[in-house]
Amino acid sequence: MIDTKGYAAQSAKSDVAPWNFRRREVKPKDVQIDILYCGICHSDLHQIRDEWGGSIYPMVPGHEIIGRVSKIGQQVQKFKIGQLVGVGCMVDSCRECENCKKGLEQYCTGGPSFTYNSYEQDRKTPTYGGYSKLVVVHEDFVLHVSEKLPIEAVAPLLCAGITTYSPLRHWKVGLDNKLAVVGLGGLGHMAVRFSVAFGAEVTMLSTSLSKEKDAKKLGAHKFVLTSDEARVKEVKGYFDFIIDTVSAPHDYNLYLSLLKSDGVQICVGVPPTAAEIDGFSLIAGRKSLAGSSIGGIPETQEMLDYCAVNNIISDVEVINIRDVNNAYERMLKGDVRYRFVIDMATL
Ligand SMILES: [Zn+2]
Ligand SMILES: [Zn+2]
Repeated sequence: MIDTKGYAAQSAKSDVAPWNFRRREVKPKDVQIDILYCGICHSDLHQIRDEWGGSIYPMVPGHEIIGRVSKIGQQVQKFKIGQLVGVGCMVDSCRECENCKKGLEQYCTGGPSFTYNSYEQDRKTPTYGGYSKLVVVHEDFVLHVSEKLPIEAVAPLLCAGITTYSPLRHWKVGLDNKLAVVGLGGLGHMAVRFSVAFGAEVTMLSTSLSKEKDAKKLGAHKFVLTSDEARVKEVKGYFDFIIDTVSAPHDYNLYLSLLKSDGVQICVGVPPTAAEIDGFSLIAGRKSLAGSSIGGIPETQEMLDYCAVNNIISDVEVINIRDVNNAYERMLKGDVRYRFVIDMATL
């Protein structure tokens, strides 16, 4: 075993704090990565506080990992020592089910091994995430990262980026589409960047007028304040797609009413309580309410390559790991544009 250190939550009630722990030795197909940066995702906090249930402690959060390869197993073919690499939300899956064979490991029917708060495929060895010095991952779940972009701003692409890129690609959002984004946070700002890059007409829907300037700066073409009834009326039946990134309770029926016939509302945020959907919201206009979870490994690599070619990065605020608990409080208040990223040299 390899001795290492990180920041961990010991229970749902505790802050994350320094913790010494052990990683597995590098096996023949494994890559050891010295972590340089790790993004802070809102789901880190949900899981630390056990808001989704079933949390596993001690928990080392973090699934937006960028680092350099420091060791490789004898049979590793895709990576060399010194290369810049990334690890996202998953570190393994069964590799055999219908979804895994299609490169949709996130929908592995047996359940993928998530990067933290999860178990390896042996279903008993806990996984520990990126708030740590190093990580050991099977090469099939390690991604190539270009040296071209500022790497701290690449880290959030591994979760916030792929979570919005994947549905936009799946539904083939492009030039002929009018798309709305709900919620301007880590996910929302990437949804705006990608859909603008794909050629869609992009509208930000928000409850806060203060978001207008920010949304336009990111490239959004229009802004609608959802408390302004007259403006909302003007966009009834207007959109082909809505990307809904909100993880607080909200009225799905309102947004469904803004879709054209055959329009699709795609949920990527998870509110803590079940929503009420009026059947008429869907029937009138043959509309769909859909969801999407991160993206598979091949598509995550495609997204990273696309970002390198098109200069797409996340807006980040780099922090010292000692400030991580404070960063959670600020994130809850929406006081970050748009992603905190931990500089792991401070660990
Ligand atoms: Zn995440
Ligand atoms: Zn599978």
